[in-house]
Amino acid sequence: MTGVTLRLDRDRWREHLRTVADATPGMVPVAKGNGYGFGLDRLAAEAAGLGVAALAVGMPGEVAAVRDAFPGDLVILMPFDAQDPEARRLLADPRVITTLTRLEDLAVVRDAAPGARVLVELLTSMRRHGLGVEQLADVPPRLNGLRFEGWTLHLPLLDEGRYAEAERLGRAALSTCPAPLWLSHLPAAEVSTLSRQLGGAGAGPVPVRSRVGTRLWLGDTAALRPTATVLDVHPVRRGERAGYRQRLCPADGWIVVVSGGTAHGIGLEAPTAAVNLRQRAIALATGPLEAAGLALSPFTIAGRKRWFLEPPHMQSSQLFLPRRVTPPKVGDEVPVELRLTTSAVDSIAAA
Ligand SMILES: *Cc1c(COP(=O)(O)O)cnc(C)c1O
Repeated sequence: MTGVTLRLDRDRWREHLRTVADATPGMVPVAKGNGYGFGLDRLAAEAAGLGVAALAVGMPGEVAAVRDAFPGDLVILMPFDAQDPEARRLLADPRVITTLTRLEDLAVVRDAAPGARVLVELLTSMRRHGLGVEQLADVPPRLNGLRFEGWTLHLPLLDEGRYAEAERLGRAALSTCPAPLWLSHLPAAEVSTLSRQLGGAGAGPVPVRSRVGTRLWLGDTAALRPTATVLDVHPVRRGERAGYRQRLCPADGWIVVVSGGTAHGIGLEAPTAAVNLRQRAIALATGPLEAAGLALSPFTIAGRKRWFLEPPHMQSSQLFLPRRVTPPKVGDEVPVELRLTTSAVDSIAAA
């Protein structure tokens, strides 16, 4: 196996998917972007195996990648853009549900594709997309000629105040027009409570749909083991030069060439969520792209993360290993830490 491989314990992974599905009311798996490291087609097939009614994609262009493998409804999460021809074309697709985030788009969609299936999004404290509560009264008259599938909320990740916000916005939406409520980032227990609470005494629970991405696909890290392959090993002496940039080797040891580079997302970190000054200082001081000196790599050899000799190349990396460590053999697989939402593996294989 050359390249970067995701060693997947498929039984364990599927057991986790099933556990999350069983515990999540109205689960809607999300398959978008790089398919959380697995690819969109693979996630679509897994979602089909779970027997869920709907799958969510991010962009209109991603519908084609999932529609053959997944037989149910396909929700597009990104706001409808009237200027996007693909988004307009998909309005007429009976399996596609489009998310509307502006009042004027309701009329645009009704005129372009009468009977189109739509969700209407409410603006949350994330302040990303959606209608304000003060606009809700204008929605019902504009739903004529559309197939209204529900209200949708995209809540922030912080726990504090999240439930109260979901309840406040959910109540405002449902009193405008009863319909299913689509949510993300609210724990299953809170979704169930919310559904009962919004239904009110005497009425049944409100139908809810919970979108889940990261927690579903990447929630059981023990089932996922990314590895790289040792491609070459060269003995070096302190002061000798190596690499594109002819860096000085810092000591006697080995240059270990491993698969995995920028094309796999290695050395390209997503921005950190460093919130205070100290965290920011640490992030600056240790960021792999702070490549003036040596930088710590995500590759583990003999139980420790090893240093890059120089920044990663496109598909491989050169690491420095000190002399006291027994070097790996060509062909060995070594662990590599990958953030699977920002990386691309060459293959997925049994663990
Ligand atoms: C991406 C996305 C999700 C899934 O997010 P995760 O953090 O990966 O679970 C849910 N809802 C919306 C609207 C999204 O865009």
